[in-house]
Amino acid sequence: MATTSASTGESTDTTAETTSTTSLAKKIVVVGGGNSAGYFARAVVAAGRGADLCIVAGENVLPYERPALSKAFLHKESPARLPGFHTSVGGGGERQTQEWYDANGVEVMLSTRVTAADLANKTLTTDTGAHITYDKLVVATGCSALKLPAAMGGALPGVHYVRDNADALALYDAMGSAKKAVVIGGGYIGLECAASLATWGLNPNVVLMEPHTMVGSGRETRMRHRAYTAWARYEAPAAPLTQLNHLPPAC
Ligand SMILES: Cc1cc2nc3c(=O)[nH]c(=O)nc-3n(C[C@H](O)[C@H](O)[C@H](O)COP(=O)(O)OP(=O)(O)OC[C@H]3O[C@@H](n4cnc5c(N)ncnc54)[C@H](O)[C@@H]3O)c2cc1C
Repeated sequence: MATTSASTGESTDTTAETTSTTSLAKKIVVVGGGNSAGYFARAVVAAGRGADLCIVAGENVLPYERPALSKAFLHKESPARLPGFHTSVGGGGERQTQEWYDANGVEVMLSTRVTAADLANKTLTTDTGAHITYDKLVVATGCSALKLPAAMGGALPGVHYVRDNADALALYDAMGSAKKAVVIGGGYIGLECAASLATWGLNPNVVLMEPHTMVGSGRETRMRHRAYTAWARYEAPAAPLTQLNHLPPAC
């Protein structure tokens, strides 16, 4: 099991000696320690049942406001860092630091992934060898970023993804020494990253499959004027890719 330093948000792994025999029983168990888990914990605590709750979190930090990762987290000056954006600051609640979880009796197992769920016996198994039984199970495992295939260079050094705190830290570090940036994806997250990259003077290009940015959102029309179509050297799609040059920081 891992514990977290409230001041840094970093975890200390103590699993090696302890978890092979760990077994835990909780009335409510949440798999996944993301945004939903944090707000769910807030509601459970508000109902006076914090001690019934256990969160099994794959990441090494407590539940946080994930949207910050593509926004203030990437600011060159005074970037947002944990514990500054733990849930539920975005929803006007108390900041859910380790002290908050401890004070409310909520158990959070960091750096721990559920690898099997025996629904008939209401038992979870984790990658640390722990067995957790529950009465009620909440699956809040979110999603993961689509990866550019390795055959197309997706695993090369200098390629970053922005899904979790560790990803965003790695991107931020890389921004300090980068000379030029290309963003693949023209939705919210791609454009927010591009805006930050622009403020770092990295003159980002945004490459996307659709004919304009923000496809699928209500902001399509507003953003469309910023796009112009170009052909890019990129294997797959039959449709032209769109490249936005010199995305303005205001975007
Ligand atoms: C960079 C970025 C910016 C965003 N900006 C916005 C925004 O501005 N506005 C907005 O509304 N939404 C935004 N979103 C989307 C929003 O963050 C998600 O909708 C939200 O985080 C979903 O919450 P969740 O709890 O379902 O999943 P997540 O927050 O993704 O959490 C899932 C967690 O489950 C963990 N997990 C997965 N499998 C296991 C397992 N087997 N065992 C243990 N743990 C596991 C993962 O490690 C992860 O920590 C953004 C997302 C990203 C990535």
